[in-house]
Amino acid sequence: MQTQECQARDRAHHLHPFTDFKALGEEGSRVITRAEGVYIHDSRGHRILDGMAGLWCVNLGYGRQELVEAAREQLEQLPYYNTFFKTTHPPAVRLAEKLCELAPAHMNHVFFTGSGSEANDTVLRMVRRYWALQGKPGKRWIIGRENGYHGSTVAGMSLGGMAPMHDQGGPCVPEIAHIRQPYWFGEGRDQSPEAFGRACAEALEAKILELGEENVAAFIAEPVQGAGGAIMPPASYWPAIKAVLAKHDILLVADEVICGFGRLGEWFGSQHFGLEPDLMPIAKGLSSGYLPIGGVLVGDRVADTLIEEGGEFFHGFTYSGHPACAAVALKNLELLEAEGVVERVRDDVGPYLARRWAELADHPLVGEARSLGLMGALELVADKATGSRFDKSLAAGNLCRDICFDAGLVMRSVGDTMIIAPPLVITRQEIDELVRLARRALDETAVRLAKHAAT
Ligand code: PMP
Repeated sequence: MQTQECQARDRAHHLHPFTDFKALGEEGSRVITRAEGVYIHDSRGHRILDGMAGLWCVNLGYGRQELVEAAREQLEQLPYYNTFFKTTHPPAVRLAEKLCELAPAHMNHVFFTGSGSEANDTVLRMVRRYWALQGKPGKRWIIGRENGYHGSTVAGMSLGGMAPMHDQGGPCVPEIAHIRQPYWFGEGRDQSPEAFGRACAEALEAKILELGEENVAAFIAEPVQGAGGAIMPPASYWPAIKAVLAKHDILLVADEVICGFGRLGEWFGSQHFGLEPDLMPIAKGLSSGYLPIGGVLVGDRVADTLIEEGGEFFHGFTYSGHPACAAVALKNLELLEAEGVVERVRDDVGPYLARRWAELADHPLVGEARSLGLMGALELVADKATGSRFDKSLAAGNLCRDICFDAGLVMRSVGDTMIIAPPLVITRQEIDELVRLARRALDETAVRLAKHAAT
């Protein structure tokens, strides 16, 4: 299919996610046709370095025949059967076992879903059921964070703290509250990062006291906020949060949908930060995005209660533990393990990216360059000395993103924060290319913004 024909047919019938349909209709979609390694190819023959691993998910990179083969074999053997009504199948069993082997020692059960959003819907119902079984049915409130992201289903978006999502199609699920995010560059520069991290944890305690400890079920957060802008919390943040949760006996839900499966140089982001969450929603890198699958890893405290108390958990999805998705996920985990991909992120390419990425901090447009594992962010600023932002109407971040794409690099913008999360198999040489393309795009962005200011 030719590019223009594909765009026209796309425009005629396809409503894209998180998209201004009218604007896209005027512009036309970029048509991606194939991919290998860390590169995607578009229909006009451009090769583009995928600095976002799709949507933070293609951890093993594109074109892995072993995953194709795992899907093919399973589709032939048993393409579908459900896991409701006292049935199971070998791929779901094997994947559950493998996940619990890789997860922290106190997590020995998993509930499968089709996506990260469904995983967070599961979290909401599971924590409320846990407390009801504990004889504390009043513990229903869940505290999330402003600018957190937990998915796009109604429960997912309610747990998340994305104001534009709350404003559309509400009202949100009741008994969910939000506290401030640990975004030092954006909201905390009048304090040291350490003091700011502690202040954010104090906000959690204040919210718990406001709602009443006896009414609060859980706190949900991403170890590092992804969609909010690759926001790494100050070192003081997680220890202080953990202390508050322990003091008030509130469950911790670490949303590992992005941080899981090696992104931060450990199997789970929780391990990097020393969290001991009660629940971990997972998805994305679980199958390297080859087939859709998610789940919730459940710690013993919650699982033991759910199992021992009995009674049906009225929740589940047609595709919970889908055989082909489970087979691909299992093969993906085996490959990540056999190839030492996670260790490589921690000991080699993660530190290498940190060094190369930090060099971009000298650019006139960059107020901060930060990274952890294979996740990085650049804060675009109008004035490097004060860190003041560009006028929103300039949409500097989107401009830089579009320039990047045209120059052969996928780098995402969240407001004026540019973010990367490349496939974990990226080489040092490819990181050099990524940084070179990013710098060139920053230069071009600066020229265009200056031209705009002059007119
Ligand atoms: N949680 C987090 C932390 C995410 O980043 C995402 C997706 N970006 C989700 C949940 C939702 O996952 P999905 O899009 O698979 O529903």
